[in-house]
Amino acid sequence: MRLNDEIVFITGSARGIGRQIAEVFAKEGALVIISDINAESCQKTADEINASGLKADSFPCNVTSLVEVEQTIDKVIEKHGRIDILVNNAGITRDNLFLRMKEEDWDAVLTVNLKGTFNSCKAVSRAMLKARKGKIISIASVIGVMGNAGQANYAASKAGVIALTKSLAREFASRNITVNAVAPGYIKTDMTDKLSDDVKNKILEAVPLGRMGSPVDVANVCLFLASKEADYVTGQTILVDGGMVMY
Ligand code: NDP
Repeated sequence: MRLNDEIVFITGSARGIGRQIAEVFAKEGALVIISDINAESCQKTADEINASGLKADSFPCNVTSLVEVEQTIDKVIEKHGRIDILVNNAGITRDNLFLRMKEEDWDAVLTVNLKGTFNSCKAVSRAMLKARKGKIISIASVIGVMGNAGQANYAASKAGVIALTKSLAREFASRNITVNAVAPGYIKTDMTDKLSDDVKNKILEAVPLGRMGSPVDVANVCLFLASKEADYVTGQTILVDGGMVMY
């Protein structure tokens, strides 16, 4: 097993890509900490993973509050001893063309996607630096690399996540902590189910592999970055986008 007894904290993991990452990691022997803004769905997901014979615990938390994230991480460390791997997955969209984009839509997306990632990195960093061991993986987006009409807030937040990843990778490298990002393209989840068929078909025209990805496509790349096989990989953003962006 590739993550035997590793303790993994995953934000926004009650459903969607985060939940899939939790399931894939748990199958590889990890104890996965399901964290999400909704306590009930958080507990339900952890219960379902435990019921399938794998290891999960539930620690609800809103990533937008540094105090709340720090208190949550402290409680996890108090109960389980450490956090080996952090996956920053919680994210939202509030799409609109720039002229119509409200200040609160800009703030909401930047606060969850970018500040939330800062908060979680900040909260685990002291313990990881002391342990001289750790892996941080942040879910960015292909939109953070290429931009997108109607998603200025989302694109800026995910580009910020990529830049934060590179900076932390440089700061933490001497302490044996790797920091990487995964940038999914169009993945079939509740987030993309909201799109109209017209929009979906247009998007698919830009995907060389000709289909949407699945959450497990993203989870498998996260698993690689979390495993020993990726010990010499840091500061990178791996695109999981069916070939939408090639560089
Ligand atoms: P979902 O909307 O399906 O799931 C996101 C989860 O994050 C939900 O459980 C949500 O809780 C939770 N969440 C939202 N706000 C907060 C918060 N403040 N604190 C803690 N948890 C929160 O999204 P996906 O699974 O599709 O996306 C996961 C990540 O992947 C996101 O970062 C997204 O930007 C990124 N991504 C997704 C792509 C896609 O095609 N789906 C493409 C590229 C990137 P609740 O539902 O209760 O609000």
